[in-house]
Amino acid sequence: MEIIRTKKELQKYLSTKNQLGLVPTMGSLHRGHLSLVEKSITENHHTLVTIFVNLKQFSPNEDFKEYPRNLEKDLDLLKKFKVAVFCPSHKEIYPHQANHGYTYIGNKLLENLYCGKTRPFFFNGVLLIVLKLFNLINPQHAYFGKKDFQQFFLIKEMIKDLNLKVKVKAIATVRNKYGLALSSRNLYLDKEELEQASFFYQSLIHAKTLFKRANFNSPKEIEDYLIIQLKKKFKIDYLKVVDKKTLLPSQELKGLIILGAIYINKVRLIDNLEI
Ligand code: AMP
Repeated sequence: MEIIRTKKELQKYLSTKNQLGLVPTMGSLHRGHLSLVEKSITENHHTLVTIFVNLKQFSPNEDFKEYPRNLEKDLDLLKKFKVAVFCPSHKEIYPHQANHGYTYIGNKLLENLYCGKTRPFFFNGVLLIVLKLFNLINPQHAYFGKKDFQQFFLIKEMIKDLNLKVKVKAIATVRNKYGLALSSRNLYLDKEELEQASFFYQSLIHAKTLFKRANFNSPKEIEDYLIIQLKKKFKIDYLKVVDKKTLLPSQELKGLIILGAIYINKVRLIDNLEI
């Protein structure tokens, strides 16, 4: 398996590849990431997985230092697949001095809503790294998880707004047997907390069932119901039921998605469900 660490090595690798699928990750890989890798392999001649914990998407008080990193294990997992891996250093991607300004990528409407409200640097950092990777690699396809629905939405908006050529695909969320969405941050949870965490998705599913039985008269009623349920076990960061095509509030009882983030102690988990 080819392991690429510098932009120079990357250019050499790319010079012989005419069609490529990209899977950007922050490593600490699990079955969720691997489902993106598998999809890319079936749809492209070559697949490049990137592993890069992107400092720019963490706020100063967030878990950049503690974020789980296990490059050896990740490379070992990827060996089974027909992929190459780009795992650059911070300096390779951000060669400027710390005090150097950098171009700002954002989404005026949505960067400060939902996940962006508690994570003010998050979407700017995500869009910046994703755009950099698109420009460095020029993939035909790129694969992202639906678990990070708002992230995928903003990447799609960026592609439209900036006339990028890459086609992006959203892959269904991979869950454990209790429904909990797999996440690198689940490693922060002990056994009891992991069990508790599955109540998050189970509550979303329950709300969907009630919604299908016409128990709610507005998206707001679904939100109110879920807030009461989730408060029993978690501190809620946000819980919103919005139009899945715009990610904005809706009065309609169709085309909706539930978006939410909760805390278990200090660990913040996100999930969503189209209803
Ligand atoms: P991350 O390493 O957390 O930045 O995630 C890298 C990519 O994997 C993103 O596109 C995520 O949405 C996706 N991803 C993370 N967890 C899952 C999951 N449980 N199922 C499917 N995709 C996922």
